[in-house]
Amino acid sequence: MKSANSNTTEPESKMNVLIVITGAGGFIGGHLVKYFHDQGFKRIRAVDKKPFDQWYQRLPEAENLCLDCSSEEACRRVCEGAAEVYNLAADMGGMGFIERYRVECLRSILINTHMIESAYRAGVQRYFFSSSACVYNTELQRDPNVRALRESDAYPAMAERGYGWEKLISEMFCQEYWAERRMKTFTARFHNVYGPYGTWDGGREKAPAAICRKVVEAIDSQSGAIEIWGDGHQSRSFMYITDCVKGIDSIMHCDQLIATPVNLGSSELVSINELVEKVERIAGVKLARAYDTGAPKGVGGRNSDNTFIQQVLHWEPNTSLLNGLRETYQWIQGEYQKRKKGQCVVV
Ligand code: NAD
Repeated sequence: MKSANSNTTEPESKMNVLIVITGAGGFIGGHLVKYFHDQGFKRIRAVDKKPFDQWYQRLPEAENLCLDCSSEEACRRVCEGAAEVYNLAADMGGMGFIERYRVECLRSILINTHMIESAYRAGVQRYFFSSSACVYNTELQRDPNVRALRESDAYPAMAERGYGWEKLISEMFCQEYWAERRMKTFTARFHNVYGPYGTWDGGREKAPAAICRKVVEAIDSQSGAIEIWGDGHQSRSFMYITDCVKGIDSIMHCDQLIATPVNLGSSELVSINELVEKVERIAGVKLARAYDTGAPKGVGGRNSDNTFIQQVLHWEPNTSLLNGLRETYQWIQGEYQKRKKGQCVVV
């Protein structure tokens, strides 16, 4: 697979360019900062509106800024001197959050509007936008036996209300900044990302983290039972975080993908029941299932068609769900234990 940012092939000067990552106190942004730091990049500006003690990962070597990117003034400061901008800041969460807080999701348009304009004014060379599979037409996702979604399925548009529409219009900004102003923009449509150092409790967590936490809780409380949102037949694919950051790097440095949204997701389709089974297997338990069919459950089925990314990058996310879940479960179990002992953790 093509990866432009590699410390074995890049000249020293390349490692000195300023990389900006917003949403760096969150899950994917935090991992991306770590990824580029490990590649040898020396100048990384990590930005998030959360106070520093709530960041999942914070590297002392990075320039860490606590700023709210929904303000134009902050975005100007954030983009100053940058060669590359990775905009991952968004008010988001799992289905429980995005179905309940549509206004907050829509307001992320302020972040993307100001970030892309500030990046353009700062003369950045490449701009990355983290879109989502929630842009896809919901009519195509009713059945759990879903046909995998290809990039062309976003139009005619009938995106997820709120969150999906905000992503779709921000994608359009990216396309038009290239078409009209010649700034190189790149857009990946993430499909359910999971892994350690992400939200696992509190209402914004997504299904894999929620299921891991519920299994840990069931073992701890000896309840022998787990509550599942929906009937358990909804199908999804889940991408492990290491595949996600590798994919972001490759997409951002592939000129064939300028202003061209591409799926970044796993194509290993499972039902929520199968997801629960995998976590039970890792934890070595079998739990009684209670289905809450009134809870937010999202679309009936969703999978990533990876034909396009394969064609362009000769790669697709390939960490097996079982392996990724092992790491995730272990981390959540550790955080849960720490919290129980009264130690400070970020959820
Ligand atoms: P996250 O919630 O862990 O991280 C997002 C971060 O953005 C948070 O730390 C939050 O504090 C920060 N933020 C929010 N508003 C901000 C603002 N105004 N200024 C500065 N920072 C702000 O979420 P994540 O899972 O890391 O998602 C990163 C990006 O990827 C988001 O754009 C999200 O929509 C997108 N995405 C994620 C997934 C997934 O499965 N995790 C799927 C599709 C798309």
